[in-house]
Amino acid sequence: MADIIPLANSAASQSQPCKLHPQSMCPAFGSLRVLTRIEGSHPVMATDTGCLYGLTFVTHFYGASKSILAPQLGTAELMSGQVVEGTRAAIEVAAKEPGVRLIPVVSLCVAETAGMPEELLPRKIGDAEVVLVRVPAYAIHSHPEAKDIAVAALLNRLAEREGQVNEKSVVLLGEVFPADPLLIDAVLRRMGVTETIFLPGRSLDDFRRAGRAGALAPLHPFYKESMNVARTWGMPIVGGAPVGISGTYAWLKSLGSILGLDPVLVQQVADEEREKATALVAARPLSGKVMVTGYEGTELAYARMLVEAGAEVPYVSTSIGQDPLVLPDELWLKAHGTKEVIYRKALEEDIAAIDSYHPDLVFGTTPLASAAKERGIPAMYFTNQLASRPFFLMGGMAATIDFVASVLTKGDKYRWMQEFFAD
Ligand code: SF4
Repeated sequence: MADIIPLANSAASQSQPCKLHPQSMCPAFGSLRVLTRIEGSHPVMATDTGCLYGLTFVTHFYGASKSILAPQLGTAELMSGQVVEGTRAAIEVAAKEPGVRLIPVVSLCVAETAGMPEELLPRKIGDAEVVLVRVPAYAIHSHPEAKDIAVAALLNRLAEREGQVNEKSVVLLGEVFPADPLLIDAVLRRMGVTETIFLPGRSLDDFRRAGRAGALAPLHPFYKESMNVARTWGMPIVGGAPVGISGTYAWLKSLGSILGLDPVLVQQVADEEREKATALVAARPLSGKVMVTGYEGTELAYARMLVEAGAEVPYVSTSIGQDPLVLPDELWLKAHGTKEVIYRKALEEDIAAIDSYHPDLVFGTTPLASAAKERGIPAMYFTNQLASRPFFLMGGMAATIDFVASVLTKGDKYRWMQEFFAD
């Protein structure tokens, strides 16, 4: 048998970092997470049995108490062309679930399922809409971007465009901490917004109402397909997000202008938010060097907030691709001392950054956090520790920087652990 030469030792690797480790979970998980959480939704998955094992597990773990239906598609079934028949049969079973109103059909990597023709599936069965959501990993490279594909598919099919547009309403796109919608809604209502619709949530009706909103505001920078849907409707887009001091101020002003709100009132609320956030940072400034990495697609916004709060953030990496939506944060970070911003990052790049920048604190994936702890550096799993707290407006900023400040004081304990386990 021929020797297998690891890429890391090959000539090709001399100029390229080794990227042999898995960099993310299966991207389709992002779409399943969104689709299984919707009340009245019963997903059908079209893929081979191998994908089904892994995705059913993670969906139960993170998503909803709901089983995914899927045709049995092993090699024999895939080769004999029974994909559409099997999927149609699974849709019929899903339609018998009590109260089902949506059957998302998630088609995945396997060529026979990725290319499934939508016209061979029913559009509706009983009371349930059948919506094909294609998220093959060779085209959709990260799980945040798969969330966007799911949301865009639902908006395309379900959003109601007929009837009166509520010009003072806004659709806010992004999976957020449960307190964030309440905080954002309260501030926007003070400016004159009459309705906020947060997607993706549990309500199918929110997707229907979204079509008659006055504007769409992606809170996270990877909802580009959903934005494209809104653009086809002629719905204005609010860029940026209410994060940190300058980000919140600019976002409130922009949203107020796009929705045609009273400029005096908008200015008053934007000024108040900026004053509160500035006072917060003055009272509790951060000090230390923090590395922000993750696969949520929100890493640049977190880094920007930490820099505004006083931290040094030399390195930021994310699983999403470069896009005009993230460019303002990238430019801002680079103008404020960040040396590297890496898109479609690899674990190996993140580990190299630890050794290059010697941070006081690392946020990243579990394997990266382990690599940092082995070096005696405090480290946390980005998804569980940052993405699971309030983030937006002054309240989110307070929650995030308090947490980061407390972890930054724990360097001694991590170094002690490193010495303790050294032998
Ligand atoms: S083959 Fe594709 S869809 Fe299946 S688990 Fe792997 S990445 Fe996900």
